[in-house]
Amino acid sequence: MQVRITVSFPYEAPVSQSLFDRASVVTPGGVNSPVRAFRAVGGTPRFMVSGTGPYLTDADGREYVDLVCSWGPMILGHAHPEVTAAVQEAVARGTSFGTPGADEVELAEEITARIEPVEQVRLVSSGTEATMSAIRLARGFTGRAKVVKFAGCYHGHVDALLAAAGSGVATFGLPDTPGVTGAQAGDTIVLPYNDLAAVRAAFAAHEGEIACVITEASPGNMGVVPPLPGFNQGLADLCRENGALYISDEVMTGFRVSRAGWYGIDGVRPDLMTFGKVMGGGFPAAAFGGRADVMAHLAPAGPVYQAGTLSGNPVATAAGVAQLRLLDDAAYAKVDAVSAAVRALVTEALTKEGVAHRLQTAGNMFSVFFTDAAVTDYGKARAQESFRFTAFFHSMLAQGVYLPPSAFESWFVSAAHDDAAIERIAAALPAAAKAAAEATA
Ligand code: PLP
Repeated sequence: MQVRITVSFPYEAPVSQSLFDRASVVTPGGVNSPVRAFRAVGGTPRFMVSGTGPYLTDADGREYVDLVCSWGPMILGHAHPEVTAAVQEAVARGTSFGTPGADEVELAEEITARIEPVEQVRLVSSGTEATMSAIRLARGFTGRAKVVKFAGCYHGHVDALLAAAGSGVATFGLPDTPGVTGAQAGDTIVLPYNDLAAVRAAFAAHEGEIACVITEASPGNMGVVPPLPGFNQGLADLCRENGALYISDEVMTGFRVSRAGWYGIDGVRPDLMTFGKVMGGGFPAAAFGGRADVMAHLAPAGPVYQAGTLSGNPVATAAGVAQLRLLDDAAYAKVDAVSAAVRALVTEALTKEGVAHRLQTAGNMFSVFFTDAAVTDYGKARAQESFRFTAFFHSMLAQGVYLPPSAFESWFVSAAHDDAAIERIAAALPAAAKAAAEATA
């Protein structure tokens, strides 16, 4: 995809560029996850070599205030001493046993204690595995095939869920993904987000066929587009009335927007939930869980097969337990306060330059849409002037602030973002807002 860059680059990143050149020879597109390649914004992706607290340092030795936080997981900042100590202690005990372990029990207990609808939980290694497995379980439990998802919601790169997905699929404007067959996607019903009438109509048109409705608890993969009041409850009610399961994907929101994730904010009770990111403390750990009678259908207790060589890995689970135990009310209050401070600064800078924008929030997650109109679904998200984001992004990058390299992603802050980090963001914003104002399509 060709992207026109509307800013000149007052900076270079020669070491990152040479790493990217080498990476592009041995790895498709030079990256191991598409959005990292900067294709939506152009320029050289920064290869990071270290992180401390709210800062990242790239291979050229430049320091950035990090507003991506590894796309969510690093809620305590990078290299938190207590999480690092827990990891070092776990590594010294051995890195994988292929047997049950004590840390897995502790992580599962931590999750079930925080999130009341999760009576039982199964650990996996990525959010994609969590949603894929939850859907298989929903199909196995109900004996039905069809899955309802919403345009702009991203649930990982599960074949059946890539139709009209957000995140990288939104960033690159891909309508669908080659390699997903009609058979794999044929049972997926894609509906507009925040549209309960469409869900009602789908249940009427496919009576007795829909296994589950899966939704991001509060979407962050088309930018931040929270559910309208009553939407999630309406989904839960419609699922119950029609014998389908309600799956709330909290891979992004879980343990981030509150102790109990988005469930802790809206209190709508799902049948199944999926988690990842924060619960792994920066390691590959994810989970799905929910009603005990549904989870009982999972092997070896029941017939629905699901497994993983590295599931519940001792190092990943030690990191997750350490991070979750540090995430008390004070930590969430700090993350919320940082988020509010950064949001206020962004609004002030863009308003001063007369840039049409909407700053949308979901707890401490937020993103900026370059549009006048409220964004309630994927169509409205795509209607924004994303060329302004490109200019804004590069100005911030040049001034040492690392934003998500796409207009369709949430920004993430951490409890480690202190006054110094916020001041650096404040200092960078006026020029970035000016660049956004002057950008042309
Ligand atoms: N679900 C949601 C809501 C996500 O945001 C993501 C990743 O961004 C996933 C699932 C997939 O998780 P992973 O990238 O760990 O496979």
